[in-house]
Amino acid sequence: MKRGPGPQRKTALGRSSAPLSRSKGLTRGSGPREPQTASQRVVFKARTPARVRRCAICNRQARAYHHAIPQQVLRRHVSGLRLPEPDARRTLRRLLRDERNLVPTCVACHGDQEQPGVKDRPIRLRHLPDSFWEFADELGEWARVRAETLYAA
Ligand SMILES: [Zn+2]
Repeated sequence: MKRGPGPQRKTALGRSSAPLSRSKGLTRGSGPREPQTASQRVVFKARTPARVRRCAICNRQARAYHHAIPQQVLRRHVSGLRLPEPDARRTLRRLLRDERNLVPTCVACHGDQEQPGVKDRPIRLRHLPDSFWEFADELGEWARVRAETLYAA
């Protein structure tokens, strides 16, 4: 279900859950469309609403979370584990909600992360939660390398 009364639905980018537009990114540039499994339809839902946090980049009120290891990457990772479907869903839900991977962002800063190309408000390694590296190491060496590539200065 959607979260309660929301005067904040001004832009899709400001929302933490946009499953349809997000899932299109899954097959970006990767040839034929893979069949959707139930776990790929798992929707991210934060434990703590972003609006009670400050934007990690500009310190304004946060409105959304940016996934340091992006959602699509986590989805691909889990499908690569070839778990039975209920386990895959549980694992994916847990990874998507893991606060160590979540960077609170305001609408403007979050929107900027979703744009391709040069960013006005880039996320840097220093913006990631301190506990992020623990999360990355649990995923594997690739996750640390990925973050260093995405968020290096
Ligand atoms: Zn911001």
